[in-house]
Amino acid sequence: MGRVVVLGSANMDLVVRMPRRPEPGETLTGTRFETGAGGKGLNQAIAAVRAGADVAFIGAVGTDSFGERLRARLVDDGVDDSRLQTLDAATGIAQISVTDDGENTIVIVPGANGHEGFDAADRALVEGASHLVVQLERPATVLAEAMRFAREQGVTTVLTPAPAREGIDDLIDLSDILVPNEGEAMLLSGAPDAESAAIALSRRARTVVVTLGSRGALVAEAGEIVRRVAPRPVEAIDTTGAGDTFVGVMVAWLVAEHPLAEALDAATAGASIAVTRAGAASSMPMRDEIIAALA
Ligand code: ATP
Repeated sequence: MGRVVVLGSANMDLVVRMPRRPEPGETLTGTRFETGAGGKGLNQAIAAVRAGADVAFIGAVGTDSFGERLRARLVDDGVDDSRLQTLDAATGIAQISVTDDGENTIVIVPGANGHEGFDAADRALVEGASHLVVQLERPATVLAEAMRFAREQGVTTVLTPAPAREGIDDLIDLSDILVPNEGEAMLLSGAPDAESAAIALSRRARTVVVTLGSRGALVAEAGEIVRRVAPRPVEAIDTTGAGDTFVGVMVAWLVAEHPLAEALDAATAGASIAVTRAGAASSMPMRDEIIAALA
């Protein structure tokens, strides 16, 4: 069985609940504060390792206590942290404000995630992997270098183009599997709907999987829709991390040499479990739970 290397962000999520958003200059009393491990890279690594894959993480945290907690989180779940560097910088954070009307606003301060290096030890890790999994919360230069190197080594590249931004055509061209959600797919392609976006993007990336929330997913290759993945109807209570669970589980199935169709069914089952629980990384299912849901 192959190995998954996730190159991505690790953030401490700082979640503040408040009755409403404060006005400029106003001090408001919030109702609750929680911290949790997050960052799209860390989330996808946790999803993949829980789904049974051998996973290593390439990233950076700071010397503060948040960094120690994020490392412990990865190690406790069994992720190889040998290339999680501790830098003289602040650990990345996501300040998440949730108001009583259910809306949230997020401010990310990348901190150590902005580290530009991709060195010989990182290369050695990627060289030994079967899949390299990346998102957009690390510098584009690092992502491009890592993906190009992976391609040269015959390592399959998997890109989640989130948080969405334009101007990443080089990364799309370097993607074997591109997994945008509907909004990201439309933004990247300029197409007006998910289907035409998937078709357009599949002329650049080899396989495009567009996730459609509670409507499932669709897959395009070489300018054609080749598969529709049915959703699993569940009572969703918190969809945070659904996309990251989907990608992590999909990759865990692919490294175990299951065909893409089976990997997408497992990913859908895994994400449907995650949305029935609160939290991001903490809501991600274990392999046995995914297998039970598939049976
Ligand atoms: P997020 O940003 O919340 O992590 P996303 O926008 O990246 O998610 P989505 O397309 O919303 O990704 O969801 C990813 C997958 O999760 C979907 O393809 C589906 O399998 C599953 N999923 C999401 N929402 C639901 C839901 N309400 N019910 C069942 N499955 C869901």
